[in-house]
Formats: sequence, structure tokens, C-alpha cells
Amino acid sequence: MDSNYTVLARKYRSQDFASLIGQDVLVKTLTTAINTGRIAHAYIFTGIRGTGKTSTARILAKALNCLSSDGPTATPCGVCENCRAIAAGQHIDVMEIDAASHTGVDNMREILDAVQYRPTNGRYKIYIIDEVHMLSISAFNALLKTLEEPPAHVVFILATTDIRKVPVTILSRCQRFDLVRVPVETLKKHFANIAENEKIELSDAANELLARAADGSVRDGLSLLDQAIAQTGGHVDETAVLNMLKRADRGVVTGLMETILSGDTAAALERVDEIYNNGADLSMLLTDMMEWTHWATRMHPALHAGDSTSAPYTADQRTKIRNINSQITLNTLSRIWQVMVASVAEMQASSNQKQCFDMLIVRLMHIAELPSVAEIINKQTTTQTAPKPSVAPAPKKTEITSATDLAAALQSDKEILLYSYYTTNIEVSEFTPGKIVYFDRGDDTEFEKKLSIWLRNKTGSAWTLDRNIKSEHAQTVTEQKRQEIASDPMVADAMSLFEDAEIVSSTK
Ligand SMILES: [Zn+2]
Repeated sequence: MDSNYTVLARKYRSQDFASLIGQDVLVKTLTTAINTGRIAHAYIFTGIRGTGKTSTARILAKALNCLSSDGPTATPCGVCENCRAIAAGQHIDVMEIDAASHTGVDNMREILDAVQYRPTNGRYKIYIIDEVHMLSISAFNALLKTLEEPPAHVVFILATTDIRKVPVTILSRCQRFDLVRVPVETLKKHFANIAENEKIELSDAANELLARAADGSVRDGLSLLDQAIAQTGGHVDETAVLNMLKRADRGVVTGLMETILSGDTAAALERVDEIYNNGADLSMLLTDMMEWTHWATRMHPALHAGDSTSAPYTADQRTKIRNINSQITLNTLSRIWQVMVASVAEMQASSNQKQCFDMLIVRLMHIAELPSVAEIINKQTTTQTAPKPSVAPAPKKTEITSATDLAAALQSDKEILLYSYYTTNIEVSEFTPGKIVYFDRGDDTEFEKKLSIWLRNKTGSAWTLDRNIKSEHAQTVTEQKRQEIASDPMVADAMSLFEDAEIVSSTK
């Protein structure tokens, strides 16, 4: 690499609103305001690092002072004296202040004292204060004083990564713009364009990895791309990026999760050793395993969320995830997630990451093998002869195996509305645990949803509720009960005594 190399983030810094990456809403609002002559005295841009706050501030400064038109313009020319000076950070009327290094109130006062003087070359005197949340309280007070009565020729452009630390009194005097995390697809497109422009080979898989690692920040993504170019001499492929990021690829992560969930401790630990020896960063590996768990959860059949097409896995990996999912419950995934989240801090605090990680694997395997609470309870209720545990009794849960079971469970749960609707309107033609085929005589469109939620909470698993369009003339639970009672010999006797008797209700 030659010594004149300009880092990509600087070389491709957006110079006008049109080339600002991924901030469509901001661009639209801001350009409309400028075009209609509504210039505020103070703006505040907030967002994570590298989303374009400083770039936007400079573009706005150019828009206000560009000489190509008689007034502020949403399309600064970029070539006039003012535009060029601002782009280079050398315009006499545009002050760029890094609050992180000007925290003293004296500095701030000195700077603000000059506010009253008219601009020299531009229309506006512009103060860009970066990381404004770093100002001291007294510096904020000095700034507030100016913001309360700003001279007509002054515009403040504040930028911050931590808006919560900016006093409300300041915020209330600013027009606020939130710069969003740039979406992966937008970043990919941007990087691909740059690669083409720079005559760099950038494979799609490598681009995807870089865009995801950038986590919404154009600047972070571009400095990763810089690194990758430097390390590969311009042939950026997936393997190179994985090595650079010290990451195992998603296939390896999927394989590891499969081994962990299969319960083979020795194989799982061996696999971790292998990945570790290949140079993977274990905190990154944990992050990848969390990402895997998140997507596996979203793809789990019990969630009925469909097969998330945005999941960053290949077709093969997805098939593998689906196979794994068919053998584990949502509950297991959720507990695995919890243990992983807890391990993040543990890993950071530990002086020996490898030890920490091995222990995490063992814990995860333990979870994968443990039955869920619902499973334990179901076992207890089905095997009545099993001795009760001496510890505190588990909350009583009912296994629901028939239409009448369901009625009893609804009643004992005091789900009175659901119970009465179900027993009087629903003709159950098929009932197996996990699936009900029925016809609904009533008109409560919410019934299916309500029952489905209740069943899931009650039994710990999702039920399929199949509503027939036409009645199969099955009895409702109330009708069944009535018939049972009527066929009871004692009741039959009693009925025969009263010719017109009818059973109206029973407590049976
Ligand atoms: Zn210009």
C-alpha cells in the first residue's frame, strides 16, 4: 500500500445530501426545510458512531453558505470557495469544536463571545459541536444562554452519540434529527460500489460479513474493508474476512450448536478446541452462537413465525436448523439464550476466556438434556404412581387429552367466558393432545386466538386448532354431559317420574 493511500471512509465521505447513505428520512426533511427557507438556529444530530453525523453537519454548513445560489440551497455545488473550504474543515465562519477536548467553560465562553460578530465570507456563522454531551454543566449553561437569544446570522449544529446526556433545556431549543443504523443491504450496496470503483475483488459472502460486522456504521464497515484490502492485496473473499474478524463461519457455528444440543460433551469440547486453535475469538464465537440461537428461535415451528427469510444462513444451514428445531423445544432455546446472555459479562471479566467458554459449553449441554418444567409436570400427572418429590410441590398442571378435559381445565382456571363459549358452541370432531378439529356454532371471531394462547400457556406447547367450515354434527361438551346424565339409571328413573322434565344444568 502506498503512503498516499486515503482511507476509504475519508475518500468516500458523503459530500451532499444525495450521497448520504441510509438516512432517507433525515435527508427528505432537511432538504425540504432548506428549500422552503426554514432555517433553524440550532440542530442536533444523534445516532451511533459512523452513521454520518459529522458528514451531515458539514453538508448542512455547505448548504447554508454555498455561493452557487442567492440563499441557502439543498444542493450545495461542492466546488465554490465556501464549499471547498468547508469540506476541508478550513472555512473561517464554520467552527468545528470537539466537545471532548473543550469541556472547560472558559473555552466555551471564548468561543461564544465571537458569536455576535457577523460572518466574514459566508451567510452564516456556523458552530459544529461534536460529541456535545461531553460538555461540562457550566459549558452547557454558557451555550444555553446563546441559544436563548441567538443572533440571526448564527446556526448551531450539535452532534452526539449519547442524546440522554444532553440537557433538556438545550434539546428543547434544537431541531432534532436521529440518524439510524444503516441497514445491512444498504451497506452491502455501498461497499460493492466502492469495491468496483477501487477495482477490488469483493465476494458477496465477504461483503455480507463486513456489512453485518459494521453493525449499522458506514465508517466501521469501511475501515474493516480497508483492513481486508490491506491483508489480501485486493482479493477480499469470505475466508479472508472470517480470519480477519477472527470468526468461525456460520456453518461451523451451526455444526457446533448441533453437537451441543445432541448431548455429546466430549465431541462438543473437542470441536471448541478445534475452533479455538484455528484462531477464532471466543467472545465472537459466543456472539455468533447467540445469533444462531436467536434465528433458531425465530424459525422454531412452535412460534408459527414462518421460515424467516432474513436469516443469514445458507439453504443447507437452514435445513440443519430445522432438523435441530424438530428435536428441541422453544423452552430449551430460551434457556440456552439466558445462559449465553449471562456468560457475556462472565467472559469479559474472566482472565481465561477458554476456561470460561468450556464451562459455558458444559452448562449448555446440561440444559439441552434437562426436560422442561412443563415436561416434568406432565410426567408427574401421567405417572400417578411415581413418588412425589419431597421438595415444594410443583404448580399443578393438567394434561389435556379430551374435549371434556379441556372444559374441566378451563373451568378450574376460572376462564369462565372461554369455558362457557367452548362448552356451548364448539363441536369437537377430533381431539388429540396438540390438535383439535372442531366446528364453531357461535360468532366469536376471537375464540380460536384466545383458546390457542391459553392452551400454549397451560401446556407449554403450541396447539393446532382446525376449524371446520361445515358442522359434522358432533356434540358440544354441554350436550355430551346432558346425554351422560340422562343415561344415568338413577336420573332416568327420576325423569320417568316427571313426564315433562328436562335437565337444565348439572354440577357434575
Ligand atoms: Zn458551493
